[in-house]
Amino acid sequence: MLSFRAGSNAPAFAKGESGGSAPPDIPPSHPSGRPLPQLDKDMPSEPGRRLGWAVVGLGKFALNQVIPSFAESRSSKIVALVSGNRQKAEHVASRYGIAASNIYDYDTFDRIADNDEVDVVYIVLPNALHAEYTSRAFKAGKHVFCEKPMAVTVEECETMIRAGRDAGKKIMVAYRARFEPHNVEAVRRVREGGIGRVRLVTSDHGRILDPKNDPADQWRMVKSLAGGGSLYDIGIYSLQAARYLTGEEPVEVFGQISNTQDDPRFREVEDLVAFQLRFPSGALANLSSSYSTSPVKRIQAFGERGSLILDPATEYEGNRLIFRSEKGREEVKVKAASQFAAEMDHFSECVMENRDPKTPGEEGLRDLLIMQAVYRSAREGKPVSVEAESSVR
Ligand code: NDP
Repeated sequence: MLSFRAGSNAPAFAKGESGGSAPPDIPPSHPSGRPLPQLDKDMPSEPGRRLGWAVVGLGKFALNQVIPSFAESRSSKIVALVSGNRQKAEHVASRYGIAASNIYDYDTFDRIADNDEVDVVYIVLPNALHAEYTSRAFKAGKHVFCEKPMAVTVEECETMIRAGRDAGKKIMVAYRARFEPHNVEAVRRVREGGIGRVRLVTSDHGRILDPKNDPADQWRMVKSLAGGGSLYDIGIYSLQAARYLTGEEPVEVFGQISNTQDDPRFREVEDLVAFQLRFPSGALANLSSSYSTSPVKRIQAFGERGSLILDPATEYEGNRLIFRSEKGREEVKVKAASQFAAEMDHFSECVMENRDPKTPGEEGLRDLLIMQAVYRSAREGKPVSVEAESSVR
């Protein structure tokens, strides 16, 4: 193993070399290398242990969160861009040191097959385009990392999973909360029994849909691009929370939808969704999503011996976890780490080590099955069972 301790040119100050009485860690007065300090952040993997990623769709999320996060990643590097706007792509490429020859558009995307630098394709397009670009990426022989929701129909998810299997490639859905340190710690404590048996999860995700001021909200109003409204976009965080905190799959859902009358934003997609899940253990979840309420991103779990609250729960940064148990109330401090770099690195490492990712396509499919059941319940005005059966096994 390599030793980074001050080496042969260092004076005998290093511990164990100086005899019992010499002061141990005093640096010399001349320029001299020092031992490896304690690291707060992991260093990148050794060269050759980083997979090349192509990001498809250079929108708000890709440019503000995803691409900057490669700087904190150990096992993933950005090597290619796919965009319908060449000028923007060239600008981004020049800032991130990406070769202009590694810029593709939606027509030339399939040529990525000839680019050995690209191992993983990260799809950050409007929801209804996820399925097509996943299939094309698999055809090009690449692994796929796909934004949430995985797709807009159950059938699309099934096709994506099958295409990956046929190609011998992996797919992971980008559920960043599963890698966010406060959420990870909350799940760890719940699994350890810190709040006893979980009986109830509540979670609310809401924001104002603002297509006039935010171009990223324009396609979110269009059903053929978004697939659904607040449920698909942010209610999916509430749903995920109920699943990862209970550790169970819901058997029954009841959903209600309320759209403000005559609001042009909600001609095609839903605004407010309140939905309940019943789990096999008898635990319940009371969940919501909204495009017309002031911002909220909150998750709570109530157990027989304690409770926890994540508020905010799913921000990009600055989340908080309060834990209440028989020992009292605690604001839990966790080591800060980029949830984006963590999820990307997890996938790169799964590919390199041929492991199944934490949130594979089947996870995205399950959410689609449940969200479809919420819509069905709202239409029928009664609780419905979740169609757990899928043609994909
Ligand atoms: P944006 O509208 O900001 O970006 C989407 C990009 O997709 C566009 O900039 C464009 O890139 C490309 N695109 C291709 N065709 C179209 C089209 N017909 N209409 C609009 N854009 C198109 O959206 P977001 O970045 O907010 O969302 C993208 C995806 O990321 C969604 O699936 C969303 O759910 C997900 N997301 C996930 C988040 C998370 O926290 N995990 C947070 C926010 C979004 P170009 O100009 O380069 O061609």
